[in-house]
Amino acid sequence: MRVFEKNSNIFKLLSEAVSEGVVVVNQEQLIVAANKQVNSMFGYEKDELLGNLALTLIPETFHTKLNRHIQPYFKNPDSGKMVKNLNITGKRNNNVEFPVEVSLTPFSIYGNGYLLVLINDMTYLREKEHEIHELNTRLEQKIKVRTVELRDTVAELKKEIKRRIQAETQIKNALHKERELNELKTKFLSLVSHEFKTPLSGILTSAILIGKYTKTEHQDKRNKHLKTILGEVRHLNNILNDFLSIERLEKGKEVYNLTDFPLSNVINEVVYNTNMLLKSGQHITYPQNIDDVVIHQDKKIVALTLSNLLHNATKYSLEDSKIDLQVDILKGKVVFRIKDEGIGIPEKDQKHIFERYFRAENVLLNHGTGIGLNIVKGHLENLGGSIYFKSEENKGSIFTVEFPTKKLTSP
Ligand code: ADP
Repeated sequence: MRVFEKNSNIFKLLSEAVSEGVVVVNQEQLIVAANKQVNSMFGYEKDELLGNLALTLIPETFHTKLNRHIQPYFKNPDSGKMVKNLNITGKRNNNVEFPVEVSLTPFSIYGNGYLLVLINDMTYLREKEHEIHELNTRLEQKIKVRTVELRDTVAELKKEIKRRIQAETQIKNALHKERELNELKTKFLSLVSHEFKTPLSGILTSAILIGKYTKTEHQDKRNKHLKTILGEVRHLNNILNDFLSIERLEKGKEVYNLTDFPLSNVINEVVYNTNMLLKSGQHITYPQNIDDVVIHQDKKIVALTLSNLLHNATKYSLEDSKIDLQVDILKGKVVFRIKDEGIGIPEKDQKHIFERYFRAENVLLNHGTGIGLNIVKGHLENLGGSIYFKSEENKGSIFTVEFPTKKLTSP
């Protein structure tokens, strides 16, 4: 006795309450029960499916595949083995195909094997899945496009940042240069004022006093003040010459005149002039055995260099100190060493000593412009020579100068 064929009420009672379509298939693969949901899902009238092959609900092309799933259950209906959520295609009464998900559960009643098939119409879900898939694809494409756009923007931004940093650096450099230039201008003006003020007031005082010494017996006093005036004018003239030298050096206008000349001439002249400026007890030692030495150089520049260095040595040394000028005639060059026992150069200032207008902190009470060494270095660079020094504060300094000489004769 076949339960489903005999009393379909039990099935109805149970199956109408669920939302899925439910069919029961017997071992002959005939549909023995189908609920309302299956009928409306597949487009059949009530009881129209009963007695039909279960495969009626499936398109022909899927029959073999489905048979493979179903057959094992009929062979062994009590196995309790279920197939869940099988995604296949259903076929409506009007032959329209649609996606379904089926779960198969074998069971047996009174020795008869059946298959309970739960069917879900997946049309709506698949449509939504398809829509979501479409949306995702579009979104991915958009993201790709945006990513490329973003990458371009980031690259542009990086370029822009680089450009701005460069511009900022340029502006900073320009500002820095302008500030330096302003500082130089201020320094220059204050040094010119200082350096000119003292000699000018000396000249003024001497001129006034000369005016007062009207008698013949005052000639000595007049001479003394005339000497002062001459000295100060020479000093001012030297400063102005230094400024003119700077300008010529800067514009590359300096013309050098290389000649052969006896070294002793220059040394004697420079030492003679420096002797006039010595402080009390100071004395200069210099080589006496160089009468026959002739060198090939710019005589004026050699004289200017030595007088600058000797002048500094006296200016920055105390009374009763010794200044030593040494000369070495080597192959292709002449080396001068000017050694003093003076105040020296503080270590922290040493690296700036050749900078224009730079003066070390321990000389600020002495007169000076801070341009002598700068000019000397400029000339030496132009002539292929060099200048360097060693100095210790309160002990003394040694300035060394090397001039290249093409031709020379030794004693
Ligand atoms: P000035 O002597 O007019 O200041 P220079 O260019 O000749 O300018 O020298 C620059 C600076 O170098 C000096 O102001 C001084 O600080 C330092 N200097 C140069 N020669 C000596 C020296 N022999 N002893 C100590 N300091 C020196």
